Amino acid sequence: MKPTTHPDGHREQLTPLSGFPMLWRKVLSLVYPYHCIICQTALPLSYPHPVCFSCEEEVIFLTRETICEICGRPLASGLCNECKQRKNSFDLLRSAAIYEGKWRDIIHHYKYHGKFYLSAFLSQKLFQVYIKERLLQESDFIIPVPEHFLDRIKRGYHQTYLLAKHLGRKTGKSVITAFLRKPKRIPSQTGLPARQRKSNVRGAYRVKPDKKLKGSKVLLVDDVFTTGATINECAKQLKKNGAVKVYVLTLARGE
Ligand SMILES: [Zn+2]
Ligand SMILES: [Zn+2]
Repeated sequence: MKPTTHPDGHREQLTPLSGFPMLWRKVLSLVYPYHCIICQTALPLSYPHPVCFSCEEEVIFLTRETICEICGRPLASGLCNECKQRKNSFDLLRSAAIYEGKWRDIIHHYKYHGKFYLSAFLSQKLFQVYIKERLLQESDFIIPVPEHFLDRIKRGYHQTYLLAKHLGRKTGKSVITAFLRKPKRIPSQTGLPARQRKSNVRGAYRVKPDKKLKGSKVLLVDDVFTTGATINECAKQLKKNGAVKVYVLTLARGE
């Protein structure tokens, strides 16, 4: 299998073995058999994805027709109550799929089990959402939701930056990490009530003022949208510093 080549000539690594010539892959597969990361089914060396077809088929990707027009929450039509009350600081949020089942498992492998190479596969799903949303395409640049440097060291890579980097290559937009920082380390938000999450993130994100931000339309990239505490805090800070629109793209969202 040849690595996927994009129109801009960029080659990306979709599987751990993609970067090796076929002969090497054959040798490596003897000691490192190539399996679907979810169900462990053996995959042919030429298989282009790290997830087998049947696992991927179980993921229900969200479509425009079945979501809130602003926040992307599954909904028959129109706006959800939260968006009607204008509770969010962002202008549009889209997620590839609901955070459940196989999709949740894949994201767990990416975030918590060191499988950084999944970023190429996952960013393809972000790109598929991007090409369907005019507003996302109008953004001036991409900003990954930052993490504290100690968390980055612990994980060994910055998961939202890798997603943003691949998306930047596919869309031709620059990825800027200098504007938004996370100087405050906060405890894991998993399982905490919305109010607690909101107070935890207060002051955790800082924007470095820059003239490029003035009047800009930002595309924020994150992995999972749950209560929205992080995204709303980032959007608020970016707008305080001159951004006029903040659009958001995430791999997954809660119900
Ligand atoms: Zn599978
Ligand atoms: Zn909504």
